[in-house]
Amino acid sequence: MDRIELIKGDITKLAVDAIVNAANNSLLGGGGVDGAIHRAAGPELKEYNRKYLKWCDTGDAKISPGFRLPAKYVIHTVGPVWRGGNNNEDELLASAYRRSLEVAVEHGDIKTIAFPNISTGVYGFPKERAADIAIKTVKEFLEQHPEIEKVIFVTFDDENYRIYKQKLGL
Ligand code: ADP
Repeated sequence: MDRIELIKGDITKLAVDAIVNAANNSLLGGGGVDGAIHRAAGPELKEYNRKYLKWCDTGDAKISPGFRLPAKYVIHTVGPVWRGGNNNEDELLASAYRRSLEVAVEHGDIKTIAFPNISTGVYGFPKERAADIAIKTVKEFLEQHPEIEKVIFVTFDDENYRIYKQKLGL
């Protein structure tokens, strides 16, 4: 699948059409990748989200401009908090990836999109299980949507990098 790439690094540095944010429901910023994205985008992002986006349900996604980021847009999605695995976590995580891609397609001029490892930080989703869901959901979507040219999985920690490298056969 030559439309999927893996990199290790900071998602806020990428000059892609859209980066995905692992946000919380308020969309007003938080810790981890969410905090890094808000810091790099500048205070305009929080202001925009408060005014126009307001809220995002778990498993859904909404789009904003990238403001001071090198990426043109930020797609904010909310992954599930891990509560042992019997609380719809797998479906909600798949939905977070799928809805992010749907929002990108609906927007029209997004061809390259970068994902962090949603829910695998503070939200505690097991990393191997999350990677299986992320890769399967993205592959299925790309098969149906040739208009998305590239999806980049951006891993930040060594463990996620190793897991994705192995699962993607790289
Ligand atoms: P969640 O609340 O969805 O678990 P976190 O931000 O806590 O979100 O973690 C999600 C993933 O983002 C983790 O794998 C973490 O290592 C990673 N991460 C943290 N900062 C960055 C960054 N600047 N760029 C890319 N990934 C990051």
